[in-house]
Amino acid sequence: MRDTFTLPDIHPDTPPCELQVFNAGFCRAKHHHLVKNKPKTTMKIPALFFLIQHPVAGNLLFDTGYSTRFYAYTATFPFSLMSAITPVHITDQENAATQLKAIGIAPEEIRHVLLSHLHVDHSGGVQDFKHARFFVDCKEWEFGQRAAWRLLLNGYIKKLYDQIPLSKRTLLHFEKNGTPYGPFKHTIDLFQDGSIILISLPGHSIGQYGLLLNQPSGKRFFLLADAVYLNENYRTLTTGSWWSRLAHFNYKQMISWFSLFKQLEQNHPYLICIPSHDPAAYERFVVSSSSIR
Ligand SMILES: [Zn+2]
Repeated sequence: MRDTFTLPDIHPDTPPCELQVFNAGFCRAKHHHLVKNKPKTTMKIPALFFLIQHPVAGNLLFDTGYSTRFYAYTATFPFSLMSAITPVHITDQENAATQLKAIGIAPEEIRHVLLSHLHVDHSGGVQDFKHARFFVDCKEWEFGQRAAWRLLLNGYIKKLYDQIPLSKRTLLHFEKNGTPYGPFKHTIDLFQDGSIILISLPGHSIGQYGLLLNQPSGKRFFLLADAVYLNENYRTLTTGSWWSRLAHFNYKQMISWFSLFKQLEQNHPYLICIPSHDPAAYERFVVSSSSIR
């Protein structure tokens, strides 16, 4: 991490993209697992996914949420442990592909699927987008090739993503090919036009990345995936309960991002940070608003 906490200016020629936020499924978790000084009441946790429409590159998804495949793939032991520990609720209508069809976008029209990481609540819909190219961090992909029962303990269901053919897979080598962007050491400008910057944010998983969407209007959206569960985590520099640490690949590395997010948000009034599992983000961007420019 570098010592400046500001992002480079957005070039006025940056192509404008449209962002829409969706949710595919919910799980349940105790509030104090997300923020340690909160009560032990149960919360409904969303699994957001994002559609970005780029004027040249077309339709792109950032993550796919849960899918109803979760039920089939966790029906038998040992995979049933996952649904016992984290009960999930999703209907056919809530699957990413079904929701996109409802707004007139067929699965074949999704050209790029960016997977922040391979956890079950991000890779649920992978199999529905057979025409897309999938972008995964190379370390994340390698980790995701372990034995299925071992991965289960880390929140992965290998069957959800292991059929992505080699010809449809782009592995992102952030450390080798990434360049610095503001305070971030390893980033990739996806279309080399300044609109979509992929930012390596390991810690929650071995190879998680976030997505910064730069708009020519000056607005920026930072899709944080699971770098934090709630905006509150970095704004108050508060982690989840002790137990919740077990959900992360490298807890210390994960919390090392908090103060950076906090300062970035303070330094950039037009920056909107969206964690994938924040119920407040669900209310604001899914329930109350269909499209954000
Ligand atoms: Zn995750």
